[in-house]
Amino acid sequence: MSTILPPSMLGMLGGGQLGRFFVIAAHEMGYKVTVLDPDKHSPAGKIADVHICSSYTDQEALKRMEETCLAISTEFENVPAETLEFFSRNRIVRPSAIAVGITQNRVSEKRFIRDAGLPVAPFAVINSIQDLESVQQDLYPGILKVARFGYDGKGQARVRNLEEAKVAFASFNSDVCVLEKMLNLDYEVSVVLAREANGKVVSYPTSENSHLNGILDISIIPARGKDKINFQAQKLALLVAEKLDYVGVLGVEFFVSDGNLLVNEIAPRPHNSGHFTIDACITNQFEQQVRALVGLPLGEARMHSSAVMVNLLGDIWPEDGEPSWDIAFSCDQLKMHLYGKNEPRPARKMGHFTVLATSRDEAIKKAMEIRQAFGIG
Ligand code: ATP
Ligand code: MG
Repeated sequence: MSTILPPSMLGMLGGGQLGRFFVIAAHEMGYKVTVLDPDKHSPAGKIADVHICSSYTDQEALKRMEETCLAISTEFENVPAETLEFFSRNRIVRPSAIAVGITQNRVSEKRFIRDAGLPVAPFAVINSIQDLESVQQDLYPGILKVARFGYDGKGQARVRNLEEAKVAFASFNSDVCVLEKMLNLDYEVSVVLAREANGKVVSYPTSENSHLNGILDISIIPARGKDKINFQAQKLALLVAEKLDYVGVLGVEFFVSDGNLLVNEIAPRPHNSGHFTIDACITNQFEQQVRALVGLPLGEARMHSSAVMVNLLGDIWPEDGEPSWDIAFSCDQLKMHLYGKNEPRPARKMGHFTVLATSRDEAIKKAMEIRQAFGIG
């Protein structure tokens, strides 16, 4: 298949911050971008060449995108797989509808991981109260997670026993769920990689991630754990990409529990824990997404600095006004990224910063000072 070159128009499904970074990367390379997102204030829609403000199933909107865009990608795993299938009849679509379809549902995602022979936390699929009643007791204490549309810890409940699980299941409208055993976590890591249509893979160093209230808070790169774990995570992420026959950028989240790696989730898109690549790597994850989409060879991933990324949620905004941004801007090793979202709401990802340094310890120290000055944690 021939390479799509600038100034061609590319399509992006979803207009959040990940889509916005895609638009920035594509613009820098000389491409135009059409963003489809139902929110008229979406961060990517605001800076795209064209923003189609419609639902992901609006036939008129899909036709318009098909007519004007040569290749289409997504920033959001909950785009209906049928929408990707529609585009793939006449356009290049990366990642594929099949890969997105598997990863957008926790049931198919966990089954895929297990059937691929990769390590996963013990789980049971819950379609009904009867399923809950026949669950093995050793899954408790556990976490009940809705199969579809969960993110940032939403649609999850920690449950100690059958009674609590029943209450949680009802609170999720008895939608299909996965009950997962609560693990003793040593820490969490992730790997972001990009894969070309010919199978060539470029991956970024393993990131160590910590969460606050179920939302990514800090990523430290490279991860501080054992080299063996970092290496194993890379190997497992590569296997995930190969078994999905994946083309595009992929994020794989892992638990490290009692010294063992388990695959937690697969994101068929650039990943929040890969934001350090914007400032710390030769080619960032969004440029790789553009490259994989248009059929260009992937860029070099090498990191030129140690990095620590900190998410900025709506919680740090005062009642009226803005956080004291000078705290961050006065640090000369810090790169600030605000996503241009209209309204700061608690738990909403509004931006992030990355501290770069020659040593990881120095990057951690500086990032933690600034994080604390913002009152995070
Ligand atoms: P995101 O979209 O931010 O990745 P999510 O809503 O899809 O989040 P998960 O990745 O399943 O949710 O879980 C969010 C966090 O909750 C995990 O990163 C981990 O810290 C914790 N967690 C989830 N499942 C388990 C488990 N089985 N045992 C222990 N901790 C867990
Ligand atoms: Mg997750």
